[in-house]
Amino acid sequence: MYFRDMNELEISGVKALLEHPANIAIIPHRNPDGDAMGSTLGLCHFLKLNGHNARVIAPNDFPHFLKWLPSSDTVMVYETEREEATIFLEKADVIFTLDFNTLGRTGEMEEVLARLTSPKIMIDHHQMPGDYAAFMFSDTRYASTCEMVYHFIQYLGKADMIDTNVATCLYCGIVTDTGSFKFPKTSSVTHRIAADLIDKGVPNGRIHQDLFDNNSYDGLQLLAKALSNLRVFPELKTSYITLSAAEMAQFQHQKGDTEGFVNYGLSIKGMEFTAIFIENHEEGIVKISLRSKGNFDVNLLAREHFNGGGHMNAAGGKSLLSLEETVAKFLDIIKTQHP
Ligand code: 5GP
Ligand code: MN
Repeated sequence: MYFRDMNELEISGVKALLEHPANIAIIPHRNPDGDAMGSTLGLCHFLKLNGHNARVIAPNDFPHFLKWLPSSDTVMVYETEREEATIFLEKADVIFTLDFNTLGRTGEMEEVLARLTSPKIMIDHHQMPGDYAAFMFSDTRYASTCEMVYHFIQYLGKADMIDTNVATCLYCGIVTDTGSFKFPKTSSVTHRIAADLIDKGVPNGRIHQDLFDNNSYDGLQLLAKALSNLRVFPELKTSYITLSAAEMAQFQHQKGDTEGFVNYGLSIKGMEFTAIFIENHEEGIVKISLRSKGNFDVNLLAREHFNGGGHMNAAGGKSLLSLEETVAKFLDIIKTQHP
């Protein structure tokens, strides 16, 4: 467990940085999810209310089921707007990095971020933070970065400035990263914050629909394919799913279609460890998501074998081997490493 609340000295340091209107870049990780987009856009709205020139710059595009987030159309995407994004980054007085803790998680943006000398502020809930930030609010006890941004705004003494837009963005990340309030890190404080955000006008029923009742017909057929590819090893409490590039193409795969598929592998009674392997021909990799229950640490497994990381019960990584070779490697690993 790693936690590091901000102390008084750090809070006053951050307050000083934000005292006068500044140019502020806010960065989520590559392949941003609901928590990454909710936290960056929520903070962006808040900083704008405070008179700053703030902008979210995402390493690459985000999924269609998040495009309803307030001001999501103002997000700059580094992959497709490299020049404009670099200009903004170079003139930024402050850089926030949210929902990740090593610059490598920003893909090609890493090179730009690493050479910039303006102070960086990390707000994040993953394991094993890097040391690039001038100020760190890094704590693995939180279920979501959005919950931490709420506390960060409280640290600044400005909770009363949270309006419907800020609240809507933060609520989105709290819902997605807690698995709709069901993962074990969901605390009574999480629920109190959610309640407060609803009091500030969050259309909570509509958000659940926008997030989860947003499938295409092909997207659901792809889920059916994934489920038919599910393999189970009851004695190892382990399961896995594969999706080949051909299967993804057969069902007109769109970014975000496979979100949540990995969780089905844990929904079978008795399962404590599961994985999904998704072949991505464009990037020449197999993207891997790992999930566990209890004390089986998938962050360590992802770091050791699959060039990745994350949380104890939810991590990701990648493989440069073929899909078949990657699965063979996984089958070899689980002979000795399983719950
Ligand atoms: P997902 O499996 O949904 O992509 O990610 C699960 C968790 O692991 C998320 O918190 C995500 O940020 C983290 N994660 C995913 N891929 C990687 C990776 O390649 N490296 C690291 N360090 N973390 C990852
Ligand atoms: Mn997160």
